[in-house]
Amino acid sequence: MKSLVSLGLLAGLLTAAAPTQAQKAMTYTVDIDPAVSTNEFRVKLELPKLKKDQNIYQFAATAPGTYQVMDIGRFVSKFEAFDKKGKPLEVKQLSTNQWQLAKPDKTHEIRYTIAETWDSPIKEHRVYLMCGSSLEQDHALLNGQCLYGYVKGFQDKPLRIKLNYPKDWKIGTPLTADAQGYYNAKSYDQAVDSPMLLGRLTEASTKLGDAEVALYSYSKTDLIKAEPLLQNMQQMLQAAQKFLVQLPVKRYTFLYHFEDRNAGAWEHSYSSEYVVNESPLTPEKAASITSTAAHEFFHVVTPLNIHSEIIEHFNFVQPTGSEHLWLYEGTTEWASDMMQLRGGLMSLDEYLAQMSSKVAYDHLQADTTYSLSKLGLNSFSDEGQKQYGNIYQRGALTAALLDLRLLELSGGKRGLREVVLELTKKYGPNKPFSEKTFFQELTQMTYPEIGDFLKRYIQNAEPLPLAEYFGKVGIQYTPVLHTGRKLATLGTGFMPRDGQLTFTQVGAPLKASGISDGDQLVAYQGNAVTLNNAMQTLGQVKASKPGQEVELTIRHDSAEKKIRYHLQEQDEVKRYSFTPMPNATPAQLALRKAWMTNL
Ligand SMILES: [Zn+2]
Repeated sequence: MKSLVSLGLLAGLLTAAAPTQAQKAMTYTVDIDPAVSTNEFRVKLELPKLKKDQNIYQFAATAPGTYQVMDIGRFVSKFEAFDKKGKPLEVKQLSTNQWQLAKPDKTHEIRYTIAETWDSPIKEHRVYLMCGSSLEQDHALLNGQCLYGYVKGFQDKPLRIKLNYPKDWKIGTPLTADAQGYYNAKSYDQAVDSPMLLGRLTEASTKLGDAEVALYSYSKTDLIKAEPLLQNMQQMLQAAQKFLVQLPVKRYTFLYHFEDRNAGAWEHSYSSEYVVNESPLTPEKAASITSTAAHEFFHVVTPLNIHSEIIEHFNFVQPTGSEHLWLYEGTTEWASDMMQLRGGLMSLDEYLAQMSSKVAYDHLQADTTYSLSKLGLNSFSDEGQKQYGNIYQRGALTAALLDLRLLELSGGKRGLREVVLELTKKYGPNKPFSEKTFFQELTQMTYPEIGDFLKRYIQNAEPLPLAEYFGKVGIQYTPVLHTGRKLATLGTGFMPRDGQLTFTQVGAPLKASGISDGDQLVAYQGNAVTLNNAMQTLGQVKASKPGQEVELTIRHDSAEKKIRYHLQEQDEVKRYSFTPMPNATPAQLALRKAWMTNL
């Protein structure tokens, strides 16, 4: 009885305090009601007193860490302004993302409808799913910039958020609600930095040092629950803690959305969100989720704690690239692999296979002459977007080489991890480095040779010295390796066409069996071949013995026929191969030991 009375008193006090707070902060109320609409959100904004020149309401053109143009104004409709008595005031849309208030000093309230980004038909610059918004019968995914804008001059002012959603829904977010159910953000930036996942969720939490880690999962058919998912991530979290020494956050939240779409992940200062295909949580699936989580989790180091003024004073109006994307994304990708290697989650062979696939991407899918600096500066342009994926590939390889060079120059005492940890002490969430002088500064902190490295491989795009640098730790890099083994082959190329695996550049033996370019492979050894299992089928071919007789079912001009065929023989060639040298010297082995250790 006593506790109930004191609770009542407390609630009364808090209610009394609310009006003064409301005068200071912009207060958003968002209606999320799938019974009314599963496509759009109704938003109401109660404003503090505005000055005459505070007449622009701005929606985000982009958001931190996305490196893409979003133009959220495209999703807005029924934008209206009202005075204190509820009388409509004139508004005018100035551009995609800006609305003008005719009488800002009289404007008391703004209301608008904003459509979810997931299911809205738009032609270009589609918003990444994990950076967008979705509303369905049993859940919603919300990112701040997809719901709120700000009045000119209010980007760094506090705001309050009230969400009205179905009673039986759970919510996962790095923000905590106050006694009246309002989420308070100290700035627009923080609101954008704080995603929310609502609906039929499962949740789990654990402690990591003195930090609390929470995980929320929405899984369409309940296949992936929070508890086993977090269990699978434990070892990675421990490895991350060892790598980082001291976690720079007190509370961290993972938000998972499992349905029929696979889109990736978006990092935030105190959380990250993931949009992943729903399928059983096999060890492979768990490993891939954990690997992505390791990457996102490492972002608490950079850009959160190490970033330039371009990230610090984020420009929501005009997307502006930073030359140091190599650090934010490349180094993060390197670190997520490295902490798994050093933490025993990844074997050396698995790590080297990762390196190999990154070199393959750089050579086969990206422009090797496009420097990482240029990629960062142009990340928002269509040209830069074409190369963007390479920041995770060549960006990570470059960080790996920088680490090796630092270890060599310091005699195995100080690698990239140690330099990054020094940078976290020097800078912080509210202390940016200088975009212009960072390369010089990094050189001064380390060695003149590092200045040369940064110039050649980050500011410019010289071919990466993979063989030389990995050689320092007794790892042999070979661009084209003939293993001497023989593999079975069908002796043809394939391409996807009309949803089917289609023959192309058919070799002579297969031609002699009656197959020509444009025919489709319908079944192999009696098993149907689809684009989904094509890689497995081709793997099955490779694993067979040359000369073995197999049955192919092919479709030619809509007629199907079965063909008996003897598999051909080809030399096994491995590209971009990294292998430990069998005769590594003691010096190489000593440096390798340092390389595989958190020093
Ligand atoms: Zn990232």
